[in-house]
Parts: sequence; structure tokens; C-alpha cells
Amino acid sequence: MTLTHSGTPEDFVPTSQSELSRFLSDNATSARKQTFPVGGRTSLAVCCPDSHSGPLICTSQLNRVVDYPVRDMTITVEAGMRLDQLNEIISAEGQRLPIDVPQSNRATIGGVIATNTSGPRRFSYGTIRDYVIGISAVDGVGNLFKSGGRVVKNVAGYDLGKMLVGSLGTLSVISQVSLNLRPRPECMQLVWFDFDSCQSVDQALEAIVTSGTRPTAVEYCNSKAARQITAESRIELPNENHAVCICYEGPENVVKWQAQQIINEWRAFSSLDAQIIEGSQASQLYNALTEYQTSSDDPVTLKAVVLPSQMMSFIETATSLNIAVQAHAADGIVFGHLPDSASSLENVNQILEQLQSVIDPGTGYLTIYQCESDWAESLPLFCSPPAGWELMQQLKQALDPLQLLNSRRFTELVKS
Ligand SMILES: Cc1cc2nc3c(=O)[nH]c(=O)nc-3n(C[C@H](O)[C@H](O)[C@H](O)COP(=O)(O)OP(=O)(O)OC[C@H]3O[C@@H](n4cnc5c(N)ncnc54)[C@H](O)[C@@H]3O)c2cc1C
Repeated sequence: MTLTHSGTPEDFVPTSQSELSRFLSDNATSARKQTFPVGGRTSLAVCCPDSHSGPLICTSQLNRVVDYPVRDMTITVEAGMRLDQLNEIISAEGQRLPIDVPQSNRATIGGVIATNTSGPRRFSYGTIRDYVIGISAVDGVGNLFKSGGRVVKNVAGYDLGKMLVGSLGTLSVISQVSLNLRPRPECMQLVWFDFDSCQSVDQALEAIVTSGTRPTAVEYCNSKAARQITAESRIELPNENHAVCICYEGPENVVKWQAQQIINEWRAFSSLDAQIIEGSQASQLYNALTEYQTSSDDPVTLKAVVLPSQMMSFIETATSLNIAVQAHAADGIVFGHLPDSASSLENVNQILEQLQSVIDPGTGYLTIYQCESDWAESLPLFCSPPAGWELMQQLKQALDPLQLLNSRRFTELVKS
């Protein structure tokens, strides 16, 4: 049986927090089966072998709005609400959650929190951790616990809810979340630059620090990725060299001024004319940039986190290995899709070793984000043991003492 199946009689679909709590408590006292929280099932195979041995806990019926005090700019929803549904509700009030989520028609807010999803806007808006103000969740033995609340300033002491961000369903099943929202900006424009060398990209990115503009996102694509992203967005843009796409959001006159200003500032680094993309084309291109990190049939997709100052040397190595690379450039987050020629485990391991050798282990890391399912058992999915592993084990012991929640994914962390 695979994790992406559409459901079996043994799967559990709670319709309330108390049902969820009862199920996990009964499981802990009797059958003690391994259980697996699932939301939109967009990422179940990521960083984990594609198999499981017990019931899935599907959050699809936990999808209601609990409270939406519009003027407070906060909303409380159940964890199985899909991102598109959430966006529709809050955009009707001129608000948004500025976190980029691929496959947002399926992904759930619980899944976004559990995987700490982020995309291009992370540069200016931060991550989901910055927007979660309260969480309710049920631990591995059925205890419902709450952290934070529905107002912005409400946490005294340790903020337990933040700890569930990125916990991958290994510590508890998130059932309800309160989120801080932002106003929707009036306008968005993108500026697409073409550079002829990694060195000039590096210089331009360094100059961002002293720019008179405040970009919302700074995306880099090597030629392979740029060709795929421009094809996906159906916009003709230069894509044979190194592309950097800068995003601006805000009042229209401010956005227009900033787009022109960055073109003036970067004239020193890029000899080719930059292009401004606006209106519906800006959304098309932005969506293609958001989806690119996950939408892949390639044999392996990698995610590397490196110091921004070391990013271009990592990208040069990856490009020389024929990897399609996209980076949230100002954050040092790099996504790479390996080519079809990486057709054997041996071959992939060699590529991983070369990439690993240009990452400083003290400041960066590499993870295999997605791979052929029969390779997942053999590849080191988290290429190096995580920092704070002992603390993580203590948390796991406290919240899931019988090791019943997604424990296989937990042990994958130290397989390498
Ligand atoms: C390791 C990892 C890293 C990722 N990093 C990024 C990234 O950096 N950028 C990006 O754009 N996308 C990332 N994704 C993809 C991202 O997960 C999806 O876009 C989406 O957020 C997942 O939502 P979902 O509802 O489809 O979750 P699912 O695919 O159903 O589940 C994904 C994981 O979340 C857990 N989970 C789901 N719902 C709950 C819940 N209510 N309570 C507890 N656990 C739950 C599951 O057990 C599983 O471990 C990542 C995915 C994973 C697994």
C-alpha cells in the first residue's frame, strides 16, 4: 500500500477535535498502531519512504472557519482547510496570508504548518511561523492541547505552537489554527533580468542590501530552470543565461517607481535590457516561480540551504552537474531538479557528494526533497543529522511516548 492512495476502510476521518482525541487515545490504550496525519496529500513522499503500516488520519472534514474577526486581521480555522478556500474567504475582505504554497488547491493549512512550506515571498514576509498565533493539536496519546490564542499578543513563556511548525506530523495532529493576516497589496510587478555570468549575479545580489528599493521576492533561475519557468508561464523572456526575477508589491505608484529604480541600479551588472512584467502576466510568472520547486517528474529534487554569500558557488557546481536550479536568492534557499541522466543510485550518490562538498556543514544543509520511491530506502534523505537532534528526541518522547505518530519519518532524520 502506498501513502498516496485514496483511502482504505481503516483510515480515520475525524469531524471534530473530540473525535480525533478519542481515536488517538483509544489507539494508545489498545491497538497501538502507527498513525499518519494527512492533509492534502501533496507531499507525503517528501523526505520519507513511500510506505506506511497503519491508519491515515485524514483532516479533510476538519475544514471550517471557527472565527474571523475581520477588523483584528486574524482568522481561526480547522487544520484541514485547503489554502485556496482560506484565500478565497480572506481575499473577500481585502486580506491575505502572504505565504506561497504550491498546489494550493489541495494543500491544507495543517500540512503547510507541518512542513513549514515557504516560497519566494519568504524574503520579505517571513514564514508561516511568523503568522501562527495559536494552535490546537492532539498528541500521540490523545491529549488535546492548545497554545497561544486568537489575539496577536497572547503568549507567555514557551510558545509550544511554534514548535509544531515543520514537525512533519511526528509530534501531534494539528486540529485548529489561528493566523495573523496582512492587507492585500494594490499592485504587483516583476522585473526580469538576464545576466551573462554567476559573478555578475553575485555582485547584483550583494547590491540588493544597499538598494533604494524593497523587493518582496528575489528569485534566481539557471538557464535550464528559466526555460521551464518561462514556458510554464507562457511569457517570452530571455532564458539562455542566468535569470533573476525581482518582485515588488504595494501601492501602484510606489511599485512602478521601485521597478524602474532597480533597473537603474542593476544596469552596472547586466548588459541586457531588463523587462517589467505586470498585470495578469505578473501573476502567471509568479505562480510558475512558486510551483517550480515542487512540480517535477525528475528523478530527484533537492533543497539546499546555504549562506547567501556561498550560494552562487553552490549554484555553479549544481549547474555544472546539469541540475536545473531555482533559488530564493536573498535567503540562500536553492531547489535543484536532477536530470534524467541521473539514472542510478550510484550516479545520484556521486552528485550528492559533490554538492555536499561545497556546503559548509556548520552553516548549511542539503535534503532530498523528493525522489524515485524505490530509491528512498537507500538515499540519505536528510543528508546530514539535524542540529538539536537530542532535543527533538525529548520532544518526541514527551508528546508521543509510544512512538505512534509518523515515527518512521522521525527516524529518517538520522538515517544518514
Ligand atoms: C519535508 C518537507 C519540506 C517541504 N518544504 C517545502 C518548502 O520549503 N517549500 C514549499 O513550497 N513546499 C514545501 N513542502 C511542500 C508542502 O508540504 C506542500 O505544499 C503543502 O504545504 C503540504 O500540505 P498538505 O496538506 O498537502 O500536506 P500532506 O502532503 O498531506 O502532508 C505533508 C506532511 O504534513 C503532515 N501533516 C499534514 N496535515 C497535518 C496535520 N493536520 N497535523 C500534523 N501533521 C500534518 C503529514 O503527516 C506529512 O508529514 C515540503 C514538504 C515536506 C514534506
